[in-house]
Amino acid sequence: MTAAQTPPIEMLTMEIDRSTPQLGSLYQELILDHYKHPRNRGELEGANAEAHLNNPTCGDQIRLQLRVEAGRIEDARFLGDGCSISQSSASMMTQLLKGKTVEEAEALAARFTQMMHGDPEAARDKALGDLRALAGVSRFPVRVKCALLAWNALTEALKTA
Ligand code: ZN
Repeated sequence: MTAAQTPPIEMLTMEIDRSTPQLGSLYQELILDHYKHPRNRGELEGANAEAHLNNPTCGDQIRLQLRVEAGRIEDARFLGDGCSISQSSASMMTQLLKGKTVEEAEALAARFTQMMHGDPEAARDKALGDLRALAGVSRFPVRVKCALLAWNALTEALKTA
């Protein structure tokens, strides 16, 4: 018997959803793709609503800018820095927001927040699009703040619209 035994492999892969491992890796690829190639990143000309928030527990920053016309989000861009969860959430969110009314955007923020609090129905809601890739984050309370940062910035920004 050896003095120091390595932990069984199952312990190391416990974080992977075993019921749908393929889905897990597809989701992971999607998150990394948005992180490495963020959509709608940069300064927004003619923005009329914005918010800048940070998440001190992880060091994430998001500055979200919106152009809202007649109650509809015509454009959304962000600048940010931080972990893959926070930045991919912002990238996917800005993609989803374009063309949505303010009410629809608020409903999506509420839905995403439900998903982050572990609501399985929200995690299956097609309205969230690619953002469902982040559903697994709900199991890691510290990372939930990362995922919600862009959405909290959205809520703040909409108050200024
Ligand atoms: Zn983070």
